[in-house]
Amino acid sequence: MSHATAAREFIADSQRTKWHDETIWFVRHKRDLAAASVPEWELLRSTASAIKRHTLSRLDEYLEQFEQNAIRHGIKVHWARDAAEHNEIVLKLLKEKGVTNIVKSKSMLTEECGLNPYLEAAGIEVVDTDLGERIVQMRKEHPSHIVLPAIHIKKEEVGELFHEQLGTEAGAADPNYLTEAARNHLRDKLLNAGAGLTGVNFAIAETGGIVVCTNEGNADLGTALPPIHIASMGIEKLIPRLEHLGVFLRLLARSATGQPITAYSSHFHRPREGQEMHIILVDNGRSGILADEDFNRSLNCIRCGACLNTCPVYRRSGGHSYHATVPGPIGSVINPVRDPAKFESLPFACSLCGSCSEVCPVKIPLHHQLYALRGVIAERGLLPLSKRAPLWFATAVFRRPWLYRAGGRMARMVLRCLPRALVYNRLNPWGRQRELPVVPEQSFRRAYADRQAKRSK
Ligand code: SF4
Repeated sequence: MSHATAAREFIADSQRTKWHDETIWFVRHKRDLAAASVPEWELLRSTASAIKRHTLSRLDEYLEQFEQNAIRHGIKVHWARDAAEHNEIVLKLLKEKGVTNIVKSKSMLTEECGLNPYLEAAGIEVVDTDLGERIVQMRKEHPSHIVLPAIHIKKEEVGELFHEQLGTEAGAADPNYLTEAARNHLRDKLLNAGAGLTGVNFAIAETGGIVVCTNEGNADLGTALPPIHIASMGIEKLIPRLEHLGVFLRLLARSATGQPITAYSSHFHRPREGQEMHIILVDNGRSGILADEDFNRSLNCIRCGACLNTCPVYRRSGGHSYHATVPGPIGSVINPVRDPAKFESLPFACSLCGSCSEVCPVKIPLHHQLYALRGVIAERGLLPLSKRAPLWFATAVFRRPWLYRAGGRMARMVLRCLPRALVYNRLNPWGRQRELPVVPEQSFRRAYADRQAKRSK
């Protein structure tokens, strides 16, 4: 389904669209204040971008270094070529230990791999412990934002959901009350989990350790008690040295939510005593993106969500309209690069305003990449007829100045008496949100010539 078609459902609820737009804009505003409070902000961005580019240019070496150091500290390292291999590894580890229930701390990678339904089909109970993740999981939905997964849901709807599934008071919508109910519900799951699975924000080649950033402390809670900790990590999460971490931690929280630092930055460098720790290094299409010189800078992404928060299209169309784990501007780059036929409409879900590139803490030139991707999609013949036909027509006219002039004259005549039904009908999506302009008395070319003539008199 194209982005525009999927977005129609979200936009149909104009109240929600307005509220979603305003709420996310508020987060963007907080990001601006936080960024402005750091005088060396631009230096941080350039440094982060340079570190990431350097790492990606020697990713194979750094991955090996990371693996050796992790193994040296007693961590078991696994490699997964794709989502299926990742899921199989997780299930095998759980089965070996006889685990039937796990808790997860937010990991978009496991979302990308479809881990939850895979494990549930194998009889394993999976509980997401991030509050927003848990809410969307209970609604049997996917996150609509990479940092704020339940941002599209109102507190009244959460109240209704918790009333049905957790037995809270009917009609309760007080965030404190609902959070407390969720905390009690999750405490039991955290205390009794057979394994804890986390994502990875940063992996440090020099030390072989990983860092997980959360605001709820759920990564610590989810890994502190179970006898096994599994960390799923995309191979692009590496940074070379521990001293680089500060650059990214200063950028991440400020860009994501406007906080100076994420509440919990948990470092895991070896298994706890009596615990097993496993790290799964997942490719799942990343080396393909790395090999693509035009678009591999998208692997710099630290998943802060700032480009989503600033995007006028994302804010008004909601994350689910992208039909991808990662929505918004960065999702509109990485998804079509991986699978252009499936995601051909995403690079067009963009006004090319450039705001995403302005806020990106690792300086990915997002809007340039989106523009370039449109060309790739057109070259591969993946544009739908509704886009191809007008472009073909426009090319034919613009190549022939006489036709352009004659067309202009004709259009000025015809538009004055054009029946509305010809423009505003089901077959013309353009007409759905637009009114044709009032036809001017004379063409721009004529008006300009008259003005020049008057000036020269
Ligand atoms: S592309 Fe940049 S702004 Fe967007 S999520 Fe990634 S790091 Fe953040």
